[in-house]
Amino acid sequence: MSFKRRIQVFITVLILVVSTILTSYFLYHEEQIAAEKAFHSSQNIKRVYDSIRKDLESFYIYRAYANLRSTGVKEAMDARDQEKLYALTLPRYTTLREENPHLIVMQFHAPDGKSILRMHRKEVFGDDIAARRPMLKNTHATQSVHCGFEGGIEGIGYRIVVPFSDKNKYVGALEFGIDPDVIISKLVQTTKMETLFMLHESRMAAADTQKYQARYSGYLFSHLTPYQKPLIEEFVKENSSLNQRIIHYQGKKYDVIPIYLNGNDGKPIGIFLCFNDVTRGFQEISEVILESLMITLSMIIILLGIFEYAFARMTKKMVFQETYTSTILNSQKNIIVVMDNGEIIYANNAFFDYFHYRSLEEFRQNHRCICELFEKSETETYIQSEMNGMGWAEYLLENKERENRVRMTVNGITSTFTVDVQKMEYEEVLRYVVVFNDITNLNNLATLDRLTQIANRFEFDKILGHSIDVARRYERSFSIILLDIDHFKSVNDHFGHLVGDEVLKTFSELLRKQIRQSDVVARWGGEEFIILLLDTSLPSAIKMADALRQRIEVNPFETVGNITCSIGVAEFNLADKADDLLHRADQKLYRAKNSGRNRVMA
Ligand code: GH3
Ligand code: MG
Ligand code: MG
Repeated sequence: MSFKRRIQVFITVLILVVSTILTSYFLYHEEQIAAEKAFHSSQNIKRVYDSIRKDLESFYIYRAYANLRSTGVKEAMDARDQEKLYALTLPRYTTLREENPHLIVMQFHAPDGKSILRMHRKEVFGDDIAARRPMLKNTHATQSVHCGFEGGIEGIGYRIVVPFSDKNKYVGALEFGIDPDVIISKLVQTTKMETLFMLHESRMAAADTQKYQARYSGYLFSHLTPYQKPLIEEFVKENSSLNQRIIHYQGKKYDVIPIYLNGNDGKPIGIFLCFNDVTRGFQEISEVILESLMITLSMIIILLGIFEYAFARMTKKMVFQETYTSTILNSQKNIIVVMDNGEIIYANNAFFDYFHYRSLEEFRQNHRCICELFEKSETETYIQSEMNGMGWAEYLLENKERENRVRMTVNGITSTFTVDVQKMEYEEVLRYVVVFNDITNLNNLATLDRLTQIANRFEFDKILGHSIDVARRYERSFSIILLDIDHFKSVNDHFGHLVGDEVLKTFSELLRKQIRQSDVVARWGGEEFIILLLDTSLPSAIKMADALRQRIEVNPFETVGNITCSIGVAEFNLADKADDLLHRADQKLYRAKNSGRNRVMA
């Protein structure tokens, strides 16, 4: 994968991870808020329910005392005079009923548990009602007010049972029974929530069978509207303990809050179910995910766009920088290479021009190291792949102040370079920049004779000095031959200087061809030449000198025809200085001239 692709993948993954974390956090948070809200609303509803109940209780307790304390009521109760009691309380009852149509029961009870009078059903009385109704029994026993849901002949109702005593004598109790629907309508009024009453089936009295017909999970409902029915079905689905839960119905979302009602015996009586519409209160998970997905996608697109733009700009800048650098490097005549661990990782055009390779791979296929091409020389010190036990690059680094030279031959042409190394340390990777400066021509200019292109006297002196050192160290012998063209002045005189120059060139070429690879020929000055014969004793040198003399004698020079030369030969003695040796050769040459020219003297 390319660097760019990797960054793009990285950006995408990063945004995805961050967005997933944020979304999960948000969802988790939202869930907590939802739970909290649900808790609060259920608490609120219970509070509302309690206050409705308290209001009803206090309202009816006042009404009870108003009745019980009316003139004649106590006496009528004591006497169980049902007719009288009815007549006395009817006006109040009638008004109360008119104003509170939900009032279904108003009943006077005797201390022994018997019913004295049912205002709503005058004809039934005298039955032992406390035996069936624990709440009544408790009221009689404790002579305190008891309130709560309880079934009866009239069906389930909210009962308020008020005891009455006169002069420390318990007279009996007055009971009011209210239709649960009044609590529902008050709940709906206050909370603005759809509210339903579910009656526990165990509490269904005969009077309720008509009213409560729908049945779910052991509970019964009165007059369910077509709208309420599916809500209930949704609520009871997989919710056998009828806990508070969120339901979805027709695009709406309800938090269904149950208010569990228990009888005085602690057993369930019924439930008020409040449907809190929370459709707009919470965001749907799918909405949150969709929103987050959109934001994530936009972020990815925007960031990738910014990256693309920045990358394009950076690449442009880098390409410019690279072009700039490579133009500079490639405009150099010097060979410049960058080496990493001995391997060339960059080379400029001069490198490819010189080695005649098209690519670095091609070069590497043929050479393990550029140092393979470094050559040795008998007469001079050139850099080799290993120098004084260290690698050539390290050696060059340590010997920067010296002029270090490398000699290489490519396609039969030998070139001499000065070589410089520079350390390039970047991000803990050590590389070397090596620069080869071709000084072959400069070198030749200084060491070769301009006319004849063979070594000059200066170069010869250097080589002679080196040869004397080697000969002394290894006790090896060598000889020199000094040649002078005979009557050269007259060549110039007859044919002119230019022709003379041509003769000197041809003469030098002849000498070069005649000698061995290891021998050195140089122009000593004017029409005088000198040859150094390595590992050659005097007799061999004389032989070679004479062969040379003969070769020249028979060679026809252009325009000039045949010429001759005189030769002096001398062998190196270990005690010799350069001058001693040269002087001896010069003396022999002088003798050759004096003895009639075209001869060798030693
Ligand atoms: P000898 O046999 O005694 O050596 O006679 P010679 O004429 O060769 O010797 P001489 O020393 O009298 O003259 C050398 C001549 O070589 C003189 C000079 O003009 C000529 N000469 C020296 N250098 C050059 C050169 O570079 N080009 C040409 N054309 N002539 C040169
Ligand atoms: Mg001469
Ligand atoms: Mg001469």
